[in-house]
Amino acid sequence: MQTTTTCPYCGVGCGVKAEIADDCVVAVKGNEEHPANFGRLCVKGSSLNEVLGAEGRLLNPVVDGEIVEWDSALETVAEGFKRTIMEHGPDSVAFYLSGQLLTEDYYIANKLMKGFVGTANVDTNSRLCMSSAVAGYKRAFGADAVPCCYEDLELAELIIITGSNAAWNHPILFQRMKAAKAKNPNLKIVVVDPRRTATCDIADLHIQLKAETDSSLFTGLLSYLARHDYLNYEYIANFTEGFADARANAELTFPDVDSVAKACDLPIMQLRTFFEWYAKTEKVVTFYSQGVNQSASGTDNSNAIINCHLATGRLGKEGAGPFSITGQPNAMGGREVGGLANQLAAHMELNSPEAVDRVGRFWGSDNVATSAGYKAVDLFEAIEEGKVKAIWIMGTNPAVSLPNADQVVRSLKQCPLVVVSDCMAHTDTVALANVCLPATGWSEKNGTVTNSERRISRQRSLLPPSGEAKPDWWIISEVAKRMGYEQAFSYDHPYEIFKEHAELSGFENNGSRAFDISQLQDLDLKSYDALKPQQWPVTDAAPYGTARLFADGKFFTPSGKAQFITVDPHDPLQQPCDEMPFVMNTGRIRDQWHTMTHTGRTSRLFQHREEPFVELNREDAEKLNIKESELVKLKNIQAEYIGRARIVDTDQRRGEIFVPMHWNKQFSAKARMGALVQPAVDPFSGQPEGKHAVVNVEPYNPAWEGWLITREPLDDALPVEYWSRVPKESASLYYLADSNKIEDMRSWCQEQFGEIDIWLEDANQNSFRAAGLNGEQLEWAFFRMPYGQIPSTLWLEQLFAETEVNMDQRRFLLSVTGCELEDPGEIICSCYQVGSHAIEDAIQQGCNSLDALGNKLKCGTNCGSCIPELNGMLGK
Ligand code: SF4
Repeated sequence: MQTTTTCPYCGVGCGVKAEIADDCVVAVKGNEEHPANFGRLCVKGSSLNEVLGAEGRLLNPVVDGEIVEWDSALETVAEGFKRTIMEHGPDSVAFYLSGQLLTEDYYIANKLMKGFVGTANVDTNSRLCMSSAVAGYKRAFGADAVPCCYEDLELAELIIITGSNAAWNHPILFQRMKAAKAKNPNLKIVVVDPRRTATCDIADLHIQLKAETDSSLFTGLLSYLARHDYLNYEYIANFTEGFADARANAELTFPDVDSVAKACDLPIMQLRTFFEWYAKTEKVVTFYSQGVNQSASGTDNSNAIINCHLATGRLGKEGAGPFSITGQPNAMGGREVGGLANQLAAHMELNSPEAVDRVGRFWGSDNVATSAGYKAVDLFEAIEEGKVKAIWIMGTNPAVSLPNADQVVRSLKQCPLVVVSDCMAHTDTVALANVCLPATGWSEKNGTVTNSERRISRQRSLLPPSGEAKPDWWIISEVAKRMGYEQAFSYDHPYEIFKEHAELSGFENNGSRAFDISQLQDLDLKSYDALKPQQWPVTDAAPYGTARLFADGKFFTPSGKAQFITVDPHDPLQQPCDEMPFVMNTGRIRDQWHTMTHTGRTSRLFQHREEPFVELNREDAEKLNIKESELVKLKNIQAEYIGRARIVDTDQRRGEIFVPMHWNKQFSAKARMGALVQPAVDPFSGQPEGKHAVVNVEPYNPAWEGWLITREPLDDALPVEYWSRVPKESASLYYLADSNKIEDMRSWCQEQFGEIDIWLEDANQNSFRAAGLNGEQLEWAFFRMPYGQIPSTLWLEQLFAETEVNMDQRRFLLSVTGCELEDPGEIICSCYQVGSHAIEDAIQQGCNSLDALGNKLKCGTNCGSCIPELNGMLGK
């Protein structure tokens, strides 16, 4: 049986066709009819069927460590919240939600807290993702309304990709841009990024600006457009306000290109080229993402970009507009329902008495919140200060992802009531919960999501829930009923919630709010199930959705005109100093997603990058005496991080480093990058400055290094300063290091791995190798040896799949020389499992193009995520 659904990872929102047999998703492929991806999936999407199954799932409700019945768990949560509210008031409780939730889940959570409990202490991990883009749109357009659609990327003649490694983070949009460029030789692409990333593969120009100078670049561009008479005066006069001030300020701050070049640390000629391209191209899309948003100037960055589009009238037209791309699959759905602490619902504001009255009448409540609640960073500080005493975290892992993540752990440890609903049993945040509620995961959930182009798509259930898992909307509704709000939360199916959400969007709207899907309020179950992807607004006037907004020049501000915002670029809040001289940038890698709670379930997605790493410039590395693949320690006033050095030349600016955002305590000893990020936030959006922490960098010089391979992942963390786990098909591989010598390795191994039937050992002064077998099966093998000497582990990995390790194999086990399997090197093409060694050999044999490599090895011929790396290997 085949069912269509959507991918649960990034904000592209690709359509997926899932093949189901015997209650299993046996295969997934891209849905050719879905307008986001037209049949393509990236490597994460195409491995979705590998991250399912009951293993690692939270299968039962748990209260204080004991499995309980649902009724008891729900009662515990409802009673806990009721008691806290009674004793300390409604602002003493909070929800922390996630862009992974479906719109129906989000709607219900928001309705309960803001509508009935009477507090706006509802925030979401989308605060870390795109709240600055939201604030920027609202300041300029009077509404959180993305004006563009994906098709604009194909119709543009200039695309500026800024603050986004789209090749890895929004791969299908990257491929659409790449295909558009191949089709249209006039299309120019400019990448604005302090790092040279895989996205630069399609760039005509890479602007490698100094970190956190985006608003200077775009304010400088506005000044250039004004000074050289490239303005659209008619558009400015008819449809905007505030231009004179914004212009005067831009010209004063950046009177010439030289001043912009100085601020951004860029070559003048490169800037001139960029400014001229912008000035002389009518169809311009600025595609921006977390690099722009995760900044203490995030909102100003957004407005600096939007100002340039308004000044040239490049908005609401085909192939033009400021296009913010969301990181998560349903960040946009959360924005629609009011999932942020400063929003009410359906694009209505908490500080508007009319809106509060309207929503109260619609929901039948006289207790609607009237002022903003705690935003993410403030929320966890309020918990530590004892102001918030009960928190419910849904589908997210703030103990890893939030800035100052150790403070988050501290706050949750002392919070009297921590409820976590999640589909996974082992996350850093679940470990801190008093109450764990098993939620359905992708393939079980049923509802809707909205992608970056405002397109609402169905995410359909494919399989029955694992164990006792329940949908989030059901869990929240059941708690709401037990808190006394029975009537307002009596839903039997998510389509009833969607209808209500659609009805609220149109309630007393009359064109005053951008978000309006009232045309969908009469869906019945059948039509909800059959709902085709469509872009809001969906109204009487636009029954099939709306591709672009603001074509008529009408905005949602009080005057109906778009607003120029005067932007004063300023330095980041966190400044390097003698003790912490490096700027740490953070981000995603190609094959992992968020804090690995899902992608960490398949070994395939670890083959591209096995361990946490620190990418740094070669000259910095030389100065610090750090060599490729050695361990590096990062340190600042908050925490430490240990990862492996990846040394690059000009890809990384001097004085700046990059670390991945994904590793958590289940996969590495000290690689939660959030622990190092200081909690500095944008004053308008509250979005943390996640791309600009300051740290010290030094070599980590271990007394010994080694590796370990075990049948099962270890329950407890190893007592070593550095360990990193790499899931394998039938085993877990650990890389180890410690700065303390272990005198008696044998006793250490016995202590760590316990009793076994057969002990094998090969020890001398320089190395120690041991293995343990139970019966005929290999349980573990440990090798103390420097990282650089570790051989291919493939042969050993395969021994764990065998029921019996024979005598020959045992003989070779500790020398690892039984290996007849070739080491593939780093896996470059995850789809076809093609490693760097085979690619290098093929290039040596004369394959000098992507096509030639694809024909020989198939690499790069499926999802295309590896193409930039293949090009790099080809020297292109
Ligand atoms: S680009 Fe990849 S991760 Fe993003 S939605 Fe599409 S398949 Fe999923």
